[in-house]
Amino acid sequence: MEVIILGSGTATPQLERNASGTLVRTSSLNVLVDIGPGIMRRLCEARVDYREIDVILLTHFHPDHVSDLAPFLFAHNYAYGTMRSEGFFLMGPCGVEQLYGGLVNIYGSWIVPSSNRLMIRELNESRPDDFFFKGVEIVSSPAEHSRPCISIRINDHGKSVTISGDSAYSDNLVTLAWTTDVFVCECSMPDENMISGHSTPSIAARMASLAEAKKLVLTHFYPPCDQVDVVAQASLFYSGPIVKSEDLLKIEI
Ligand SMILES: [Zn+2]
Ligand SMILES: [Zn+2]
Repeated sequence: MEVIILGSGTATPQLERNASGTLVRTSSLNVLVDIGPGIMRRLCEARVDYREIDVILLTHFHPDHVSDLAPFLFAHNYAYGTMRSEGFFLMGPCGVEQLYGGLVNIYGSWIVPSSNRLMIRELNESRPDDFFFKGVEIVSSPAEHSRPCISIRINDHGKSVTISGDSAYSDNLVTLAWTTDVFVCECSMPDENMISGHSTPSIAARMASLAEAKKLVLTHFYPPCDQVDVVAQASLFYSGPIVKSEDLLKIEI
């Protein structure tokens, strides 16, 4: 299993930190968790062909997590070169059908992948849910953020990654991340600048510690996170390895 942080940033445009997107490569699937503005370009920079994505999994519908969805769909009909013939999934919390329908209302059939290649699957936003595809388990649970918003865990042959999405402290997330190999947790602001609906280094670390996660990867940084030592703040509450993410960071599991 491999995790590639495509976007370690937020709604604030930053040259070095793209808005949200994390690619999880499993033995049989490429799952793209969130597709914020600029993620199509980061995929190119990571040398990943957009046609290799089997599942786009949205944690919620804030623009910094979904804005490249229309260009992604459009590329599936009109990009230069051969088209992917295999079906692919768009998944997310309840409302993902509505989001897709809204985009189709705006852009028309141009973004509707031809030959019924697009399959949509909604995950329950108020309780844990799961989905199996090609031997990979995708588990979701409600996050502490806007509604709906989910956190995600991907299990593949005894290996796992858990991705918080946007979330403040959440018992659901601690349960979801139980003994996970890699816990990718949002850390929007340093401890001293905490904002509602989001985590800080110490909150992320406390959740990692309670979950007995084997590694903590901090991500989703607003600019103040690059002005303090967020790893030092987190290390007071979690004794395992802590990584401060950057765009195009690869983590082998
Ligand atoms: Zn966000
Ligand atoms: Zn958000």
